[in-house]
Amino acid sequence: MKNKGSEEVSQARCFRCGKELPPGSLSYVVNIEVFAGFDGYLIEPKEGLDEQLKKLFEQVEGSNPEELEKEVYEEFTLVLCKSCRDRFIEEIKHPWEGPFKIRTHPNGILH
Ligand SMILES: [Zn+2]
Repeated sequence: MKNKGSEEVSQARCFRCGKELPPGSLSYVVNIEVFAGFDGYLIEPKEGLDEQLKKLFEQVEGSNPEELEKEVYEEFTLVLCKSCRDRFIEEIKHPWEGPFKIRTHPNGILH
């Protein structure tokens, strides 16, 4: 049994199915970063950045700063077992197919 430094060694579980992942077992770490995209365009540039920021703050006035931060940037780290990892990857690649993998084959349309 290896203990990797000060890493938290709480019993790892698969984020999705809850299966226990004892140390040394095959597991997959999924790191997801979700952040607000910026394409270089500012809406209503005439107003200047200060005005825009003011507006933004007005918009979000009263909302929880933590929530606001989440809207801009959020990071998840998930641990998955092998089979959930496989399904997860499939769903990321084919989100439109939904969780039940309805594979319809419309005439002549590939992909
Ligand atoms: Zn799992």
